[in-house]
Amino acid sequence: MLVCVGSIAFDTVETPDHLAEEVLGGSANFFGFAASLFGPVGLVGVVGDDFPESHLEVLRSRGIDTTGVQRVPGRTFRWAGRYRDDMNVRETTNLELNVFGAFDPVLPEAYRTSGYCFLANGSPAIQERVLDQLRQPKLVLADTMNHWIEGARDEVLHLLRRVDGVIINDEEAMMLAGRTNLVAAARAVARLGPGIVVVKKGAHGSLLVADGGVFPLPAFPLEEVKDPTGAGDCFAGAFMGYVARAGDHSVATLRKAVLYGTVVASFNCEAFSVDRLRTLTPAEVEQRAREFAELLRT
Ligand code: AMP
Repeated sequence: MLVCVGSIAFDTVETPDHLAEEVLGGSANFFGFAASLFGPVGLVGVVGDDFPESHLEVLRSRGIDTTGVQRVPGRTFRWAGRYRDDMNVRETTNLELNVFGAFDPVLPEAYRTSGYCFLANGSPAIQERVLDQLRQPKLVLADTMNHWIEGARDEVLHLLRRVDGVIINDEEAMMLAGRTNLVAAARAVARLGPGIVVVKKGAHGSLLVADGGVFPLPAFPLEEVKDPTGAGDCFAGAFMGYVARAGDHSVATLRKAVLYGTVVASFNCEAFSVDRLRTLTPAEVEQRAREFAELLRT
């Protein structure tokens, strides 16, 4: 099984023409929906007593294992963000950690022998606590964010020496490496420990650095982006779901995984929250992947 440890949230998202209030969000949610298109996935997270059981049932209806989701007294994590005219630029307008602030991830016994694990954005200390519970993982990738890179740099660097790869955005890669050239930054991050570095550039696509090679891929061209929230987590979910299903992480597999990550992330941008992911099918993903591969042919 593929395991993801991350946030489960109520998101409030404002775009130039819509406001979605207290909708299902959080990195683990987006990751889970995306990964479930490729194979079994289990989530580790925390929700408060205000979190409706029906939301967890939606996850389970997609075959997502929720035995790792703890319910504790208190309020669920809340996040709010605003996109102005440029849907590539987001401003966080509210962050209430609530029960996520005291989150101590405990992997159910059945998750500890998982071969594949994604450590979504969170404190590096908590991410390491998850690593300590995994018996013999084949591939662990992590995400992080500017908050931790600036405030807990040594802990982030320690974590990077223990994981096989990172999936981070362009700003984070430049901040980690202290370089403004993205290719140089990605290579420098790989030298910090994680041999596999995927840098997400929003509407500008992504860059994979693995085994000394650099593989760029544009984003799938969408004419309308309704809500890009969670696109990065969907990218990671599809990327890892594809790799876990393939059972190897050769460069050829990683390159294909980037393509699938890009495709599933594009679907997520077509609607708010997880609305597009609720009904997305593997057949639709395959069709768009073929269309995309055709567009890339020169
Ligand atoms: P993305 O657009 O891929 O960066 O993911 C956005 C999702 O991450 C939203 O659904 C938020 O609920 C969640 N999120 C935002 N900030 C944090 C944070 N500091 N820790 C954990 N999850 C977060």
